[in-house]
Order: sequence, then C-alpha cells, then structure tokens
Amino acid sequence: MSAPLKVDRISCRYENESAVNHASFEMASGDLACLLGPSGCGKTTVLRAIAGFQPLIQGAIYLDGRCISSTSTVVAPEHRNMGMVFQDHALFPHMTVGRNVSAGLFRHSAADARRIVGEMLERVRLGDKINKYPHELSGGQQQRVALARALAPSPGLLLMDEPFSNLDVDLRERLGQEVRELLKDIGTTCVLVTHDQQDAFTFSDKVGVMRDGHIEQWDQPYNLYHEPASVFVANFVGDGVFLDGTIASSSEVKTELGLHSGDLVTDLPVGTQVDLLVRPDDVIHDDNSSQSAKILKRSFRGESYLYTLLLPSGGKVLSLVPSHHDHAIGEDLGIRMEIDHLIVYPKDGPTCPLD
Ligand code: ATP
Repeated sequence: MSAPLKVDRISCRYENESAVNHASFEMASGDLACLLGPSGCGKTTVLRAIAGFQPLIQGAIYLDGRCISSTSTVVAPEHRNMGMVFQDHALFPHMTVGRNVSAGLFRHSAADARRIVGEMLERVRLGDKINKYPHELSGGQQQRVALARALAPSPGLLLMDEPFSNLDVDLRERLGQEVRELLKDIGTTCVLVTHDQQDAFTFSDKVGVMRDGHIEQWDQPYNLYHEPASVFVANFVGDGVFLDGTIASSSEVKTELGLHSGDLVTDLPVGTQVDLLVRPDDVIHDDNSSQSAKILKRSFRGESYLYTLLLPSGGKVLSLVPSHHDHAIGEDLGIRMEIDHLIVYPKDGPTCPLD
C-alpha cells in the first residue's frame, strides 16, 4: 500500500563534509515529488537516507507515520517496503524480462508471481517482451522494465534517481508523462531525483529545489516558476532576467519599461529599489508598441524563438516569440510588457523576501 512520507529536518555528512542540512518536506499518500537542484546539492544523499543507506546525524524520517530513520532508529533497507529505480536500469543481463520483474517477488507463490509479472508488464506496455533479454530492448524499454520490477512488490514508496537521464529529450518527456500517469493510476507515492527542470515539471505534483544541502522551496511547479521564494530559485528554475525597479504602490513596480501592475508579492514599502524578475513570456512581441529593443541573440526552439533583447539603458530582457516571427539579429523588435506576478527582491537585501 502507498504511504505518506515525512522528512523532518534531516542532516547527513560524509566523514567531515556536510551533505544535507536540515532538509524537510512532507508528502501525502500517492503524491509524486521531485528533488531538483545543481550537482552536489545533496539530492541523492536525501534519497539514500530515505532508502536507509545513509545514516542521519540529525532529524528523522517517517513512512506511514512510523519512524524508519533517526539518530537512534534505523530500519534496515530491505524492511522499508520501498522500490528503487536508478539511471542505469541495473537489470540482471542474464535474466529475461519476466525473471527480472519477478526478482523481488520471492515472498509470493509461483502462481501469484506469474500473475503480477504479467500485470506489471502489461501496465508498462511490454507484455510481449516477457521472454526477451535486457540487451534486446531499447533504453526506454529497459527503464520501463526497471519500473515494473520496482513496482511489482507493491512498495509503500518508490524512489527514483535520475531515471530518465540516459534517454534522449523526446523520449524522456514522453516517458516522464507515462510514468506519472502509471503511478497516479496505481496510487504510488514517489520521490524522484533530477537535475533537469523539465523532468521535474513533467512528473511532479511538488518539487523541492535544493541548495547546499537544504530545501530552498518546496512547492508546485507553477509556483516555483511564477513565485520563486528566492533569487536562487528564480535563477535555477526557468529563464529570466532581473530589471532595476522601484516599488510604486502595493500593486505596481516602475522600471525603464514603464509602470507594471499585477500581483505584487512583497511587503516592501513604496520607494524601495528592487530587482524585478522578468520571464521571457512576460515580454510580448508587438509591432504596434511604442517600445522596442534590439535583437542581440536568438535561439530557435521549434515553435518559438527565444530572443535576447538589448534595452536602451544597456539592460537585457528575453522574449519568447512564435517562430513565424522570424527577425534577424540587429533588428529592433516592438515589445509590450505583460507581467501578472510581480516578483521583486530588494537590492542588496536578504535573498528570501517572500518568506
Ligand atoms: P549530483 O546531481 O551530481 O548527483 P547530488 O545533488 O545528488 O549531486 P550528492 O550526491 O547527494 O549530491 O552529494 C552531496 C555532497 O556530498 C557533495 O558535496 C558530494 O561531493 C558529497 N558526497 C556524495 N557522496 C559522497 C561520498 N560517498 N563520500 C564523500 N562525499 C560524498
């Protein structure tokens, strides 16, 4: 049965080096969450701690209300009722797909194991591959076998470490979506680790952005993008730049591009000098606008161009424009600002003004 998970202010270290620092988050049964962050920020160490491979020097971890890790309690990994999927599949090469999936079903009768293997392979759409060997499958298929194997014993929690990172971009997005639908259908609680924002957004209900061993923001993907709680999260999640601005009222910020009205998420007083976060989708291409900026760079993304634009002051903004508006570097592009969420950070102030 799927279970709720609570990670409560855990800290871990390797010899003398701190790897995780007071990391906390909670998940309801059936939630899909992701730990996202730059290399070395402690994502895998948190996952290892949840799995029972990494001791805690502080804090505790609870699965289904039961303490499974603390400084005084350690439930052995094999008694945690967790499934795991890693980047390199780790399938047994000399065993067929069917035997791989049945590997964790040693407590079941042979007839039950056969039924579960058949059901799991159908669920990952590999029912016809039961007698194949791993080397006869594509990378995406191997990863689906690894998933079927991890899910076969009905774990309370599934842990996945960079499961899609060896796959090409198209496949990883498709598989991320497929795996999400499958886990939602079964109702499995799952924590996934990735450094790839698209993986995190495709897959998760909640994302924890990690920095230097702690969770900087635990939130829905939409909020991470539109209401980042710190400069670090704003920079790490999505494209964007900061423009010099001044708080003009409780719902307005003034910049060189005019007065912007919207939801202003701050209690900074009027007149405060701030950095305003401007995302590429806030800068709309409009030939009829009185404002324009010079195209410095452009990056083709299929359905759109991401233009880097130079403002008269020397500042820069990014603009996402449908790719049939094909403008050359050096041209002036008419622009209009449409910012719904005004995200500001005081200049030289603390990095978490929204807390
Ligand atoms: P990546 O995305 O590169 O896998 P990560 O966010 O998963 O990184 P961790 O692997 O958890 O980060 O590492 C956190 C910190 O702990 C890093 O500073 C790393 O160098 C250190 N570390 C990780 N594993 C060990 C180890 N076995 N021995 C010593 N230090 C380690």
